[in-house]
Amino acid sequence: MTRRALLLVTVLCLAAEATSAQSKFLPAMAERADIKQALAYLDTHFDTQVAEWITLTEIPALSTHEQQRAAYITAELKKIPGLRISTDAIGNVTAKRPGTGGGPAIVLAAHMDTVHPMDANLKVKREADGTLHAPGVFDNTASVANALQTLRALDAAKVQTKGDLIFVFTVQEELGLKGMYYWIDHNPAPAMVVASDGALGDVSYGALGIYWSKMKFTAPGAHTMNSRNQPHPARAAAQCITDIYTVPLPPANAAVPAVYNVGMMGGGTVVNAIAPENWFTVDLRTIDPVLLKDIDAQIVAKCQAAATAQGVTFTREYIQQSEAGGRPEALAGRLTQPIVMTPVDVLKYVGAQSSPNPSGSTDANVGVVRGIPSVAIGRSRGGNQHSLSEWADVASEKVGAKQMLLVLISLAELK
Ligand SMILES: [Zn+2]
Repeated sequence: MTRRALLLVTVLCLAAEATSAQSKFLPAMAERADIKQALAYLDTHFDTQVAEWITLTEIPALSTHEQQRAAYITAELKKIPGLRISTDAIGNVTAKRPGTGGGPAIVLAAHMDTVHPMDANLKVKREADGTLHAPGVFDNTASVANALQTLRALDAAKVQTKGDLIFVFTVQEELGLKGMYYWIDHNPAPAMVVASDGALGDVSYGALGIYWSKMKFTAPGAHTMNSRNQPHPARAAAQCITDIYTVPLPPANAAVPAVYNVGMMGGGTVVNAIAPENWFTVDLRTIDPVLLKDIDAQIVAKCQAAATAQGVTFTREYIQQSEAGGRPEALAGRLTQPIVMTPVDVLKYVGAQSSPNPSGSTDANVGVVRGIPSVAIGRSRGGNQHSLSEWADVASEKVGAKQMLLVLISLAELK
């Protein structure tokens, strides 16, 4: 080994040590009698967890229509002693498991809502390859099932943490994280926020900024016979869409990418007239708050210019506005903090790969944007979320539950 190589190895070892030191999880903790018992509970009661996961998936819970699912969850929470259960005005269900004192309060957020209509066929199909198939089974019912079972396991093993564990079953996550914003604005700030959302192994410590806009162009309208040289909302909208796509984006492989998309268009009710209104939508996304505002301003300017050229009125309406968490450089410090290192170490312990990333579009974004150390951890393996072919892997759900339990007891500090 050359001196340089030796130096490099030494530096890497020191770095590894420094990072691990930030993790609040130690493998020895999982060997304590109470924690062992809690983990064993997750093993021995896994069949009933899967049955409950299926039950929950089949309860429709389109965003703003989570009441039925919330009622099921509340009834189950009431069976677990020692929890302080409440429902807030927007519909979030909170179960506080008080700590013994002197430790940080940790929020675990799992959203109850799905994107699937109330009359969608939610019947779960269990395949021989160990997967479940149904809309919503992965995003985010897998997390809700893990959260309920984690609470039961903690209770069965009489695990005590110094800090409070606050389980929040949120509403309207799929509508711009509305439920979680409401919760954060109406409760004392926790020390940390852990959202359960995404695939097992994800450790998302940033926040993807997302702006959804409706661009509207209006004018008095006119019959086709009288349409020559009249203000024309459709032409303004068409011009604007063309111009928007000239707004430069960072290259697709850039460290901080950005994307936008015109997804919907509409307006007009008859063939033989200039419509009084035409509109389209823009979905803009990046993790860089400066880039987000900059591209947004350029898009709006293109719309304004097209409207002026056509003599029509332009208005922009936000459908959804989730702020960005920051560029990787700005968030680099997080990589060595307990909020990230703890799930990374826990994932290693439970035998799963971890992939820390500065993105994320989950309830944890609310914490990130508000300056609370926050992270999103995965629930199980799965895919095709937000589609009718959504699926989840059964066996990985148990790994997800163990991860959740160990992350929470580590961050809230064991008594
Ligand atoms: Zn989700």
